Amino acid sequence: MAPANLDTLDDSVNNPGDSTMAYDFDLFVIGGGSGGIAAARRAAEYGAKVGLAEAGRLGGTCVNRGCVPKKLMVYASHFPDQFEAAAGYGWTVGERHFDWPTLVKALDTEVTRLNGIYGTMLDKSSVQLFPHYARFTDRYPQNRNGGGCHPRHS
Ligand SMILES: Cc1cc2nc3c(=O)[nH]c(=O)nc-3n(C[C@H](O)[C@H](O)[C@H](O)COP(=O)(O)OP(=O)(O)OC[C@H]3O[C@@H](n4cnc5c(N)ncnc54)[C@H](O)[C@@H]3O)c2cc1C
Repeated sequence: MAPANLDTLDDSVNNPGDSTMAYDFDLFVIGGGSGGIAAARRAAEYGAKVGLAEAGRLGGTCVNRGCVPKKLMVYASHFPDQFEAAAGYGWTVGERHFDWPTLVKALDTEVTRLNGIYGTMLDKSSVQLFPHYARFTDRYPQNRNGGGCHPRHS
């Protein structure tokens, strides 16, 4: 499913005062981190029509700045000790050199792969992705340009 733009939604749906108005989503989630993606997918599994706005890369703090890059960096930091220990087990370890740009590139490749998996999961769950910053001006969410939607819950 192609990412949608909140601006493309008909402005008439952003009228909270009209009770005859049809809801365009059962649930609108702001934030595509671990919590938002889990909530969106779970609601969609129960048959809800779900939209999700994410201003940055899918996966949130955990995938992009937290758990994942941290763990990979910690794994990378273990190698010097292992090289030292290896000698005691009969290994001859050659000259060692650490290249920070190579690690950063590998981290980014892995994070990008995970971003893609999260996008595919949302797609498969039929969650409509809005790759934008969203905010509330009343009880309904809007993106920065003022485009809005009219979800039953958000
Ligand atoms: C350095 C670090 C290491 C960590 N390591 C671990 C670990 O090893 N294990 C572990 O369990 N936890 C770890 N955590 C904690 C984990 O990252 C968080 O618990 C988790 O990311 C919280 O998920 P969340 O969905 O609530 O929020 P987030 O992942 O922060 O997601 C919020 C998302 O909402 C988006 N957003 C915010 N406002 C808007 C808006 N108005 N419109 C559109 N999008 C918006 C943001 O761009 C973001 O993507 C770590 C955290 C850090 C900082």
